[in-house]
Amino acid sequence: MKYDHYDLVIVGTGFASSFFLKKYLSKVKTDKKILVLEKGYFFPQAERVKVKRGIPTAYQKYDLPYEQAFINKSKTKEWPFSLGYGGSSNCWWGCTPRFMPNDFKMKSKYGVAQDWPLDYNDLDPYYYEAEELMNISGPEGTPFPRKGKYPLPPHAFSLVDKIMHKTYGNQYVSQPGARASRATAHRNGCMAFSTCETCPVNAKFTIENSNLGVYGDTRVELLYGAEVHQLETANDVVKKVLFRQNGKEQSASGEVIVLGANPFFNSNILLQSGDKNPLTGKGFGEQLGMQVLIYLENMTNAGGSTWVNANGYMLYDGDHRKDYAACLIEANNAPYDIRLERGKHLNVASFRLVFEDLPLESNYITTSENQFLPAVHFAERSQYTLKAVEQMKQKMPELLSCLPVEKLIYLDPASHEGHIIGGTRMSNNKEQGVVDKHLIHHQYRNLFVLGAGAFSTFGPSNPTLTVSALSLFTADKSF
Ligand SMILES: Cc1cc2nc3c(=O)[nH]c(=O)nc-3n(C[C@H](O)[C@H](O)[C@H](O)COP(=O)(O)OP(=O)(O)OC[C@H]3O[C@@H](n4cnc5c(N)ncnc54)[C@H](O)[C@@H]3O)c2cc1C
Repeated sequence: MKYDHYDLVIVGTGFASSFFLKKYLSKVKTDKKILVLEKGYFFPQAERVKVKRGIPTAYQKYDLPYEQAFINKSKTKEWPFSLGYGGSSNCWWGCTPRFMPNDFKMKSKYGVAQDWPLDYNDLDPYYYEAEELMNISGPEGTPFPRKGKYPLPPHAFSLVDKIMHKTYGNQYVSQPGARASRATAHRNGCMAFSTCETCPVNAKFTIENSNLGVYGDTRVELLYGAEVHQLETANDVVKKVLFRQNGKEQSASGEVIVLGANPFFNSNILLQSGDKNPLTGKGFGEQLGMQVLIYLENMTNAGGSTWVNANGYMLYDGDHRKDYAACLIEANNAPYDIRLERGKHLNVASFRLVFEDLPLESNYITTSENQFLPAVHFAERSQYTLKAVEQMKQKMPELLSCLPVEKLIYLDPASHEGHIIGGTRMSNNKEQGVVDKHLIHHQYRNLFVLGAGAFSTFGPSNPTLTVSALSLFTADKSF
């Protein structure tokens, strides 16, 4: 470390930390000292592709297995993520719809769970900014309020998408996505390989190809292999960040501290540090996702220019949310969704149905005997979500009546959506959550806790655009 004391110490280099830094650096003076502590290492996209292809590379040692980074107490539920520079931007799929305005008002609108302490209008300018920074491809008309064009044109519809869009208009749109619809200065156009976890053509946004410029800024010092486990506090002020690097215990002193390490590790670090809020680590979860295969009579479903081609909002918002969960439809476009019968290989569409879930006390994160490893307890889905699954099955035939449906095949719920949400939920006061609307900890007022851990409720839309917009918002309002 270059200095004894820093203006800002930030943990992690994923979306939450990188978008926070982007805004922070644009607002503060040129003499600020910033330390970034990253548990993993820089593992470039080109080397990741080699690993996928079985080609030897010296970078293989930087492929840190996420399964060994936490203790999973619920073996049937998976929680994948990427460790290292760029975090899960390296493995995400790049679906970036905005939340719907009512996602922020579940209590006042539908009497369910809790309202967020901020609303859609608070985030709206930061959604635009995040969409520009990620060069999102998207449609002109959207079900959520949004003016003007996305930075890149929308992805092309498949034949099924065209029919659905004609029937449902702006309730069925080309999915806003960080998989480029055409080449940009730093990314290639998506070729719909459906291998987004390691995009072979470098079409999806990652922190590596983002050109955000934050880690090259002369004010920023980035330490790799720095695994944070605790904060040292005095009189409710965080003084130091404790971490291990190369087997050696170290500490960094900072004026302002930012945790951007994902909800498992953010919760673990807080609990290791003596955070007294009984809600810390509580009520985490994610959406429930399941696939329906739509077999089509005499119709070949060709076309589409990316992996998740479209989003349907017909089962999303409305008064039913008083009773059961919202569902977002994702139209998938993967080559493995083919039929085996002769002459019918492409007579099929595949929709992912993504249901919101509620933050439940029975799902929580705790510390374990190993200070670096959070223990993750996921017991159950809410009845609110399970009821929505049944309702969806009843409604689906009518909803798809514009298509020549031969039969519908529902697959079992997926083991994960790749989203870790909750654990440090946002609220107006410490009785209802862990951080305030600016993601500042209710007890430690010089500590930001970023990421989807702060979401007050778990709407069905993919979280990362909102994670990024929240980081821009909080850094803008706080400095
Ligand atoms: C397979 C998959 C597909 C996904 N697809 C989508 C999608 O299409 N759309 C969408 O919206 N979301 C998607 N997600 C979710 C998305 O990746 C996350 O929402 C997002 O990465 C969260 O950003 P973050 O910065 O909070 O955390 P992360 O991206 O997880 O970054 C956390 C950072 O902290 C570092 N870190 C962790 N622990 C420590 C520690 N103790 N000390 C120091 N550093 C530490 C990590 O190495 C990493 O750099 C997907 C996730 C997966 C796994």
